[in-house]
Amino acid sequence: MSISTSTTVKPRYSIVTPIYNEEGNVPRLYDRIRQVMDSQPDTWELIMVNDGSRDQSLIQMQEAAARDPRVKIINFARNFGHQIAVTAGIDYARGNAVVLIDADLQDPPEVILEMIERWKAGYEVVYAVRAERKGENWFKLFTAKLFYRVIYRITDVNIPLDTGDFRLMDERVVNVLRRMREHNRFIRGMTSWVGFRQTGVKYVREAREIGETKYPLRKMIRFAWDAVTGFSYFPLQIMIYFSFILGLIGILTIPVIAVLRIQYGPDFFGGQATTIVVLLLIGSFQLFFLFVLGQYVARIYDEARDRPLYVVASTIGVEGSPLALPQREQSLSENS
Ligand code: UDP
Ligand code: MG
Repeated sequence: MSISTSTTVKPRYSIVTPIYNEEGNVPRLYDRIRQVMDSQPDTWELIMVNDGSRDQSLIQMQEAAARDPRVKIINFARNFGHQIAVTAGIDYARGNAVVLIDADLQDPPEVILEMIERWKAGYEVVYAVRAERKGENWFKLFTAKLFYRVIYRITDVNIPLDTGDFRLMDERVVNVLRRMREHNRFIRGMTSWVGFRQTGVKYVREAREIGETKYPLRKMIRFAWDAVTGFSYFPLQIMIYFSFILGLIGILTIPVIAVLRIQYGPDFFGGQATTIVVLLLIGSFQLFFLFVLGQYVARIYDEARDRPLYVVASTIGVEGSPLALPQREQSLSENS
C-alpha cells in the first residue's frame, strides 16, 4: 500500500457519479454540482468513476479535476457496468454522507439540498422517488413500473417503489455497504437491506438531454434478474406449485380417460399426437425451471470465484486504496 498519509481533510459530502460515454454531460454535471454544493456551507468532493468510456469523457473529467481539486477520478480498466461503477465510488468516498447521482443530469442535483436537510433531521438514507419521468418511451415507463411492483411483491426487503440509485447515505450505511461484496449487485435493494432510518423525497426525473441511454433491453433484463435473484427465492419456490398442478392434472386425467374410453371405444384420446404435445409442454416447463435454477447457480459460481469487483487502471486525487474493504481484498492491495 502507498504510504501517503491523508493530509486533506475529510469532506462532509461525497458525490459519486458513474460515467460511461457521457461526453458533453461531464462538464455540465460538474458545473451543476459545483453550483449546488457551493450554495451550502460544508465541504464536498465529487468522485467520478470512468466506467471504460470510449469517448472524450475521461479527458473532460481530467479537465475538471485539473481546475478543481475537489474532483476525484477513478478510471476503470474497462466497462464493468453501472452498479459496479457506483460501488467503486462508494469504496473511495470519504464523506460523512455519500450521494449517488447519474451523470446525465436526469437526476437534478438541486434535490441533493433537500436530501441534506432530511439527513440533518436524522435520517440515514434519503432516496429520491420519481414522481414523474420525462422523456422516456412508453416501453421503458411500463417495464419500469412493472419491475418495481414485481420486485416489491416478491422480495423480502422493502425496496421503495419508483426509486433509482439517486440517494444520500450516511457513513454508517456506507460502511455496511462497503462490506457487502456480492458480485451481482442491486444497490438500491442492498441499501434497503441495511436498514436504519430511511425516507424519500419526491422529484421529477428529467429527460436525458445529451447522449442516449446506456441501458439497452439486454442490460435491463440482466439488472432485473440481479434484483430478483439477489433478494428473492420466489422463482425457485413457484416450481413447487407447478409441480403440484401438473401432478394433479396427471392424476385426474387417469379416471377421465378411462371413462371416456369406456364410452367411446379404446381408441379415444390415443395416438402419438397427444403424447407429443404433452411431452413438449412438460419439456418446456422443465427447461424453463432448469434455466431459473441455472440463474441462481451461475450467481453462486460468481461468488465462488470471488474475482475483484472491478479493476482500477488509474486514479486522480484519491489517496491509496479504497476504504474499508473486507479483509481478503484489503490484503490483496497491501501486497501489491
Ligand atoms: N453507466 C455506467 N456504466 C454502464 C452504463 C451506464 O457507468 O455500463 C452510467 C451512465 O453513464 C449514467 C448512469 O450510469 O451516468 C445511468 O445510465 P443511463 O442514464 O444510461 O440509464 P437510464 O437513465 O437510461 O436508466
Ligand atoms: Mg439516464
